[in-house]
Parts: sequence; C-alpha cells; structure tokens
Amino acid sequence: MKIAGHRVLRNARIDGRDDIVDITIAAGRIGAIDAAGSAHNDGDTVDVGGRYVSPGFVETHVHLDKSCIVDRCHAREGTLAEAIREVANAKAAFTPDDVHARAARTLERAILQGTTRMRTHVEVDPGIGLRGFDAVLALVDEYAWAIDLELCVFPQEGLTDNPGTEELIVAALRRGARVVGAAPYVDRDRHGQIDRIFAIARDFDVPIDMHLDFTLDVAKMDVEYVCAKTREHRYEGRVAIGHATTLSALPAARFDAIAAMLADAGVAVTVLPSTDLFLMGRGIDHDIPRGVAPVHRLVKAGVNASLATNNVLNPFTPYGDCSLVRMANLYANIAQLGARDELALCHRMVTERAAQILGTGDHRVEVGALADLVVLDCASAAQAVAEIAAPLYVFKQGRMTVSRAPAMLHRP
Ligand SMILES: [Zn+2]
Repeated sequence: MKIAGHRVLRNARIDGRDDIVDITIAAGRIGAIDAAGSAHNDGDTVDVGGRYVSPGFVETHVHLDKSCIVDRCHAREGTLAEAIREVANAKAAFTPDDVHARAARTLERAILQGTTRMRTHVEVDPGIGLRGFDAVLALVDEYAWAIDLELCVFPQEGLTDNPGTEELIVAALRRGARVVGAAPYVDRDRHGQIDRIFAIARDFDVPIDMHLDFTLDVAKMDVEYVCAKTREHRYEGRVAIGHATTLSALPAARFDAIAAMLADAGVAVTVLPSTDLFLMGRGIDHDIPRGVAPVHRLVKAGVNASLATNNVLNPFTPYGDCSLVRMANLYANIAQLGARDELALCHRMVTERAAQILGTGDHRVEVGALADLVVLDCASAAQAVAEIAAPLYVFKQGRMTVSRAPAMLHRP
C-alpha cells in the first residue's frame, strides 16, 4: 500500500556507511535508513542503483540580482573597479521585472544543480533603491517548494560615502532581509562601514555576512578588526566573511595567527573561487597568483568555511552554471587537493559546513534530518568532487523537485 508523503530511495550509498542502504522518507524527513532490501515498500520508490545520495547543496553566497547581465556590460580590464563601475551603469536600467526574470533564471539553474538552500546577497543604494531587493524577495515564496532562500542586504556602492544607503538597508531588513552584509573596501573609511554594519546587525538581531579583504594587498586587511568587533559585540558564530583573498598572500606564521583568531571569534570564511581567480592578480604579467584563500587550512585550525558561486555571468565573473559540485572541484584543483578525505572536505564545504554558516546544524543524510537530498551519478562524495558528478534527482523535504536521465551512449 502506498502512503502519501512516504518515499523510499532504494540502493543508495551514503556518507559513513560502506553498505548499500534504503532511505525511507516520511513527512519531509528521513524516517529510517536500513540495509538495502529491508525497507517496507509502502511509498513511491526510486531505485538509485547504488549511487551516492548527498545532502542537498547549500549556496552561502550568490548575487541573483545582478546575474546574467554579461551581454549588457564590458569586461575589458577584468578588474574589481571595472566590474563595480560596469554593474553600476547597468543597474540604472534595472526594472523589477528584469531583476525578477534574471534572478529566477539563475535560481532555477541552481535548483537544477541540486541546491536546496541559498543565501543571496542583494544590493541597495539610492540608485536602485529597493527595486532589486523587492524583486528578489518575491522569489522566496515563489520557489519555496524547491529551495530555502534568504536575503542578505548590503551596500555594494558604499555606505559611509553614499548617503541614503543606510536607510535603505534598514528598510530592507524591515521588509524581510534576514542577514546584513558589507563591502568595506568601497568606502574611504573601511572601519567606519564595519562599525555601522555591526550596529545595524545588533539593532535587528541578524547575522552578518560581509565581503572582506578582496585584494592581495595585505596592508589593507580588515580581518583582524572584524574578529575584534565580533568578540566585542558577542557575535561569535554569527559572522561570515567572503573572499578574504589576502589570506592567500600571507606567509605561514601570519596565516596561522589569523586562523587562530578566526577560530576564536567564531568567524566563518566563504571562498568564491571563480570570481577570485578571475579578478585577482590583474596587472601581473607572469607567475600570476591564484588569489584564492586556502580555507582547507583554516578548517584544520577550527574555522568553519564554505565554497560558493558569488557571481554568474556578469563583469565580476563572466561564467557560471550554478553548480556547487563544480565549485568544489575548482577549489580542489586550485588548492592542489587530491586525497580522498580532502575531496570529501570540499564536498562538505558545499553541504554540511555551508549549512552551518546559514544556521542549520543537521544537514546530513541521517535519521531525523530534513529530506533535502541530491542523488549524484557517482558512488561517493570524493568521487562527486573529482568527477563533477551530475545530479540525477533532487528532493526538497522528500518531494522530488528535479530529475534528469543519466547520459547514454547510442552505439551503432
Ligand atoms: Zn559577493
């Protein structure tokens, strides 16, 4: 007999078990994990044929509002300054319908790649006002069947140097932003922006997720200041920083000291490998640095870290397929990680560790956890990262949201 809402994924491989299992889903959660063949056949059954069932991918840092505008912009220098300038020009013509359509396209792409949870950064300033923010906010309910989407509002074009922006951040938080972000390097007074963002975060009791230290000039590094502010405000465990590319330019002793400081302050680090590779090291004509923070070394020091997409098809990153398993592969390649446990860590930085940054502790394939799952065309997490395994099925709270047939050869 089939029971509505019950589903069994047969013949699955999961983390932490060597045998093949059946996963029973009930009321949106994983109800049981049994040896293959022993689950009661009382629901819709999907035979995954010995494939790896991963927790759904978790995107901690993406910009839906400015995605898919590469055809409207020039990216000739490939510098951060050019990207900010070009997007600011394009932004003047953004309408709510335009932002909504592009953001929905990117969000759907992410869902098709197996992403079940996402934090998107959305910019406000006197030019765009709340047009972009409201358009993205509408997607939260429209796509709740497939993805948990939360908005982080931030001042891409400056805060202390851009009057009117702080009022818009406050308005966005009142309208439903769940996180406040920052980009201190666009204001003359970087610490001034950081101070204001902490004050706003405390007022609204929301976490902070700031772009930080997006340069290779270690003299312009603010990570120590952010760690000090985090401790001062008792915000341990509620602050994440993105990019932190200066960490790639530090000698080992200074790096280790900052790793200890980040661990102590409970500040998480998100690496955005595609953007960092594209924008860092411009102007250097040989031995070009990778400019990607070695976060696997931070994890060893007790810091939480995630890998994320950041930009999709715009002057900051003129590429993008929203695949987090591809981003994990890209990071592994840049960071020269090849051992099985190192590849598995890269997978956790787009699943379990990423979920921790978004405040969810139980993002694993285990009894009692939400059934947010992706079936990958491979047998393990390490293989998924090594081979950029395709997602064949995606489940959101047990309901199938995506299916894709494995590629097949048609021999003559
Ligand atoms: Zn970003």
